[in-house]
Amino acid sequence: MKNFPTSLLGQRVLVLGGGVSGKAALRLLKERQAIPVLCNSEPISDSSVEYVREDIPLSDLLPLSLIVKSPGISPTHSILVQAEALAIPIVSEVELARAFYSGRLIGVTGTDGKSTTTSLTCHLASNDFPGATAGGNIGLAFSDFCLKPIPLTVLELSSYQLEDSGPLELNVSVILNLASDHLERHKSLDNYFAAKARIVDSRNPKHTLVTSSKLFKERIQRFDWRCSILTFGREEGNDAQILDEHQSIQTNKAKYNVSSFPLPGGHNLENLAASILAAEAIGAKSENIQKLIGTFQGLPHRFQNAGKAAGISFINDSKSTNLHSMLAGLSTWRDKKGTFLILGGRPKAEPLEPLKEFLSSGIGWVLLIGEAREKWASEISPILGSHLILAENLEEGFSQIKTAVRSGRARVSSVVFSPACASFDLYKNFEERGDHFLRLVGAWAKEEP
Ligand code: ADP
Repeated sequence: MKNFPTSLLGQRVLVLGGGVSGKAALRLLKERQAIPVLCNSEPISDSSVEYVREDIPLSDLLPLSLIVKSPGISPTHSILVQAEALAIPIVSEVELARAFYSGRLIGVTGTDGKSTTTSLTCHLASNDFPGATAGGNIGLAFSDFCLKPIPLTVLELSSYQLEDSGPLELNVSVILNLASDHLERHKSLDNYFAAKARIVDSRNPKHTLVTSSKLFKERIQRFDWRCSILTFGREEGNDAQILDEHQSIQTNKAKYNVSSFPLPGGHNLENLAASILAAEAIGAKSENIQKLIGTFQGLPHRFQNAGKAAGISFINDSKSTNLHSMLAGLSTWRDKKGTFLILGGRPKAEPLEPLKEFLSSGIGWVLLIGEAREKWASEISPILGSHLILAENLEEGFSQIKTAVRSGRARVSSVVFSPACASFDLYKNFEERGDHFLRLVGAWAKEEP
């Protein structure tokens, strides 16, 4: 961890950025009886915190013992540049919280599956670590609970948070996978991986890194790590091998029966294998892990069962914001021919070849909505022909699906909403988008149960 004075009593600390994590840092600083100062584009509704504008010269804020930088703030922000010249320590919100936390700590990162794996790992370790808590980029910010006597914390860590953080000294780190996403920020896949790899305490032999065999082969084995590395995958030789789909996972410690695991899709078995390895590595007993595999609830908007209408099953995968996550869910989907797939939203800068290849393998119908529809339609309409429908938004799309189903043109058994695009063209976030989908399914179910 970076060297900064953890006794913050009476010390002035600047929090740069007043979003979710910035506000959590302010609460922690107040609890530690520091004097927090917030620098943000606008004040927040907390009169106990001194507020300053973003263009203030650093000299007007001195003395300062520490600066807490939020993930959205550019490292070239003038305050940060001035602070570096004066050797004022700069930390991230997670790093600040880490300095006060004394329990065991697991961190999870990756392009897709972070939230699922974070909460699943916490669930699998909960018998051995009663009160284990999942947080970070999911649920509460770490600063909101780091002072509590929690025996185990599992943190979801985004590449943005990791890029900002010094060493977090985790006991176990998980890097699930890597696909082209967020390249508008990281510029290249190499930089993106470098940000994620900061999660690993690579020089510490007591640290364990859990990762996929694919990522291990493609990138991780190129470096000289001193920590222990455990891999998961479907091939022999992995420390967690997915044996027969949805039947068993074999680790070095036990063979787990996973037939009761409720989440669908091969990608979720990978999340389960990673979670089992992380839970084992932190000290959870195999028999306790086994007991908990069947009771994981899953998270809303991630391949969530959304009920039935007119004899059709609906899946809400609104959290799918890139092609990697959509393809992971759909590649092991049983009845592709009988599926109406809903795609679209604000597309990411990704090559469309994998999408075209997947659609060529025989999906039933596709509805394309939002900003992606013009650009994507020109690419995929030669594959789908009349089985491609375009609509401005989800509402209009639903009425077109109903018409196609009611007329008997589209004979489908499921509608899967896995947009593979960001939600910001039409919604505030993926939750609002998923809730809208659930409401439309509910309304259809009322018309035709
Ligand atoms: P994250 O927190 O990384 O966004 P989530 O668990 O919220 O991950 O899932 C986001 C999306 O990624 C969902 O569409 C989900 O179906 C898909 N997904 C989940 N796990 C994986 C995985 N291991 N590989 C690829 N996609 C995944």
